[in-house]
Amino acid sequence: MYKNKIWLSAPHMGGSEQKYIQEAFDSNWIAPVGDNINYFEHNIETYLGSGYVAALNSGTSAIHLGLILLGVQAGDAVLCQSMTFSASANPILYQGAIPIFIDSESDTWNLCPIALEEAIVDSITKGKKPKAIIAVHLYGIPYKIDEVRMVADKYSIPILEDSAEALGSSYNGKKCGTFGDIGVFSFNGSKIITTSSGGAIVTNSEKLKEKAIFLATQARDEAPHYQHSEIGYNYRMSNICAGIGRGQMEVLEEYIDLRRNMHAFYVDLFAAIEGVTVFTVPNANYFSNYWLSTILVHPSETNGISRETLRLALETANIESRPLWKPMHLQPVFCKYVYYGSNISETLFNNGLCLPSGSNLSETDRARIKSIVLKLFNK
Ligand SMILES: *Cc1c(COP(=O)(O)O)cnc(C)c1O
Repeated sequence: MYKNKIWLSAPHMGGSEQKYIQEAFDSNWIAPVGDNINYFEHNIETYLGSGYVAALNSGTSAIHLGLILLGVQAGDAVLCQSMTFSASANPILYQGAIPIFIDSESDTWNLCPIALEEAIVDSITKGKKPKAIIAVHLYGIPYKIDEVRMVADKYSIPILEDSAEALGSSYNGKKCGTFGDIGVFSFNGSKIITTSSGGAIVTNSEKLKEKAIFLATQARDEAPHYQHSEIGYNYRMSNICAGIGRGQMEVLEEYIDLRRNMHAFYVDLFAAIEGVTVFTVPNANYFSNYWLSTILVHPSETNGISRETLRLALETANIESRPLWKPMHLQPVFCKYVYYGSNISETLFNNGLCLPSGSNLSETDRARIKSIVLKLFNK
């Protein structure tokens, strides 16, 4: 019936990306070295207002390098928000370390500071202090920055801030990505801006940035031949991809506004529908890029309509939506690891749905979404 598919979050080119790609071709820097990389890093550093940025080939490799820079080794314990994308947790296993999963709290859906402290105290009692905390800003909403930092500092455990979904979000005016001991961004195709595939690591010293680049480019010692004293990785961003990133940085602010407009559209749409709540920041200290607009559907208040009923109705109309991230402690690959908390993330997963949120959705797209929703809820 409908020809064009409405995607959850599709790439959105700004217009000057190909000009920067052309510059890479003209200078023949078709490599993970070149001006586009330097400019792209500089653009992000300026945007963030603090920190040093190294551009990498994915958010996942940024998390892996982050754990390495924090000294995580085989056998170490690493605390990780359970409700997240698997890429937050997989690098713990790449290092041979052991994840300890932590429940969410219901205000931001992110790392619960109370369950976090419980896990730390328990681990220390058992003689093994965790090496790092991985905290995530899900869907662009900042985690409880002050509370998580307080627990981390109380036990002197560094934070790896997974800001993959939160470029442009902030807390008390300070940009996400700059709160952790290490911060991480993703520029995958579905994120608020994309380099097709890409990521970045944010550090608080120039030396640490240089170390990240050194490790990301095969850890070559200074010598005319290839000399190595450390294990290296091939994690650097390509100069072609960085050209896309330069173009995307020019439109980032505009795209944040457009994503926030999508969120406002859903707040308006669901205002009159009982039993459906649009996930929104807890108070004015939080600013979300609303990378994805998400809702909770409570079937007891909707005459039995569940998030799955809505998802299938949208799918029939060629509109993509998706359940929230399934918590890691419920995943077959991770369920054998220890988990602290109750069932908050599990309940969110059971009732939550991500809705089309892209910055390139049209008025017609919105009208299509609206008509399906209103029809399903008999409005
Ligand atoms: C997208 C994402 C990542 C991984 O980034 P890639 O660039 O796809 O490797 C990590 N964590 C979260 C929370 C993400 O959403």
